[in-house]
Amino acid sequence: MLLPAVPLGTVLFTGVAGVAGVASFLFSGQFILAVISAGYCGIVATGAIASARNFLITKVAESGMAEKSEVVSLLLREFEEGEADWLWQIDTSRRIRSVSPRFAFALGLDPEDIESKPFIQMIAGPAWETGQFPSSLHDLAERLKRRESFSNLLVRVTIGGQQRWWELSGTPKLNDSGVFDGFRGVGSDVTEQRESSDKIAYMARYDTLTGLPNRMMLTEALAEALRYADQWRTRCAFMMIDLDRFKAVNDTLGHLVGDQLLARVSERLTSIVSDNELCGRLGGDEFGIVVRDASDADRVSRVAEAVIQALSQPYEVDHHTLYVGASVGSALGPRDGNTVETLMRNADLALYRSKDEGGGQHFVYEPALHAHAEERRKLEFSLRRALEKNEFILEYQPVVDAIGENVVSFEALVRWRSEEHGLVSPVKFIPLAEDTRLIVPIGDWVLHEACREATRWPETVRIAVNVSGEQLLDPNFPASVVSALSLSGLAPSRLEIEVTESIFVRDASTAQAALERIMALGCSVALDDFGTGYSSLGYLRKMRFSTIKVDRSFVQGAAQGNAESLAIIRAVVAMADSLEMTTTAEGVENEAELATVRQLGCNKIQGFYFGRPMGAIEAGQLFHTVSYARG
Ligand code: C2E
Ligand code: MG
Ligand code: MG
Repeated sequence: MLLPAVPLGTVLFTGVAGVAGVASFLFSGQFILAVISAGYCGIVATGAIASARNFLITKVAESGMAEKSEVVSLLLREFEEGEADWLWQIDTSRRIRSVSPRFAFALGLDPEDIESKPFIQMIAGPAWETGQFPSSLHDLAERLKRRESFSNLLVRVTIGGQQRWWELSGTPKLNDSGVFDGFRGVGSDVTEQRESSDKIAYMARYDTLTGLPNRMMLTEALAEALRYADQWRTRCAFMMIDLDRFKAVNDTLGHLVGDQLLARVSERLTSIVSDNELCGRLGGDEFGIVVRDASDADRVSRVAEAVIQALSQPYEVDHHTLYVGASVGSALGPRDGNTVETLMRNADLALYRSKDEGGGQHFVYEPALHAHAEERRKLEFSLRRALEKNEFILEYQPVVDAIGENVVSFEALVRWRSEEHGLVSPVKFIPLAEDTRLIVPIGDWVLHEACREATRWPETVRIAVNVSGEQLLDPNFPASVVSALSLSGLAPSRLEIEVTESIFVRDASTAQAALERIMALGCSVALDDFGTGYSSLGYLRKMRFSTIKVDRSFVQGAAQGNAESLAIIRAVVAMADSLEMTTTAEGVENEAELATVRQLGCNKIQGFYFGRPMGAIEAGQLFHTVSYARG
């Protein structure tokens, strides 16, 4: 029975001894004893087999256990060697026990220096002395005291004088008799992740280029201001700011200069606003200001005026002196809108109005602006279909020479007979076409149509066609001119392109290059509406214009004896003469104006006095009657 490992030996021994015993009892005739000893031997044999089996099962289980614990320690070792995590353990008095190397490393100390030191002391830094724990550390100390388990607790710790973030989990440890025996848990350093998530949170709310709050933060601030205004029955406001002529700076001097300019604009904006306002960048050259308390209606106007004033001062960027202006649109909440979206949209509508009026002004939202915007939207919708529907026609206005009063050319002026809107003036739809770039196909049609019509006129009569900046900057523009000339068979010298000064504001070099290609074909270029734009005389020397057209406002002024108008016309005529250009007086309506411009020395005259813009047939008949009269 003592040898459970060798059951076979036991069974054989009992068998031999049993058989001998039973046989001797049988010979001696003691049958009862023989049966008893046979039974005894049977019990011993089965007992030996059973104990042997138990012994084997225990052995197998034991070896299984050993294997398992090896796996566990292997896993633990791997975990310990892992990047960030470590195991920690403290006793009932919250002193560190069985310090693992990783934990010691995380604390920046040797394991011996840590063993049996108070856990909180090790991670509190100077706060241990002052007792002013950061709240997260306080929270940890409380949980340890209350013997509560915790998981993924974010704790601000001080290691070697440096602030770090640890994520700790822990559970109370019980000894064999179920009594509390300290804590055991895991921890990891999450400082990097936390810092990057802080950074992401910052980047999500601030604009990287200017450091100003971005659209998201402005929206939140406006929502908060609206809530406050609603609760206390006061008013808040939203102002939308757009820079005037910023695109010109960006297009001509490049994005780097543009970006620096935006940073300067932001500095000026932040210097203007008070605690009551929050200013931010909405994107591009658009900025916004949330006025938290706008109960004093004048306040918004005052801020708007200050913004326009400050942003319109010249900027020195990269050795360039830059001039940009600002347009502002504002809306009052909750009067003009009780949600962030409507308030922002309405401020945008007001801004749009300001832009429409030429910029540099502040406009307050009013409901009528909706109608205005709606009308524009409808107009745009129709304009997109106008070409297919053949709704454009050309009229021609004669230009006569100042001395002989003969027709020397016609200016082609486009007209839109819209099915939905009736006759729409080019003053209204050309800017819209420019904004939507529809001017490119429309202008192409005008060029082809005008050249075709001009071939019906005497060869001495030229045709002038107006071309927008948007058209000129289109890379296909020269090809469009070539196509119009070749399809109609018109001599290039009979085509004159009219441009305004505004083309030199946006992208002067591209515009100039395009015009030079047109001139190389043999066409001439006239400068339209002279004096109304930027009036920088510099480009008059650079470009070989054939004609300068003096704007009607100067003609009118000069006829009324306005000294400034007179001086301007005189100067233009003198300069044109010296540069071998001709001058055309625009918009001459009566005898007095004719006499004035003639006396001032303009070479050509255009205006209602000699003829209004007329249809193609009427224009053609002009030559018939002239030649008839001559004949
Ligand atoms: P613009 O090129 O300066 O054209 C002269 C404008 O003055 C025309 O107006 C003409 O009708 C008007 N006008 C001519 N004589 C007189 C006058 O004696 N008194 C007055 N009060 N006005 C006179 P319209 O046809 O309304 O055109 C306005 C502007 O629209 C044009 O100014 C031009 O800038 C633009 N435009 C017209 N057709 C086209 C075109 O085919 N393409 C482009 N890009 N612009 C065009
Ligand atoms: Mg013109
Ligand atoms: Mg003009």
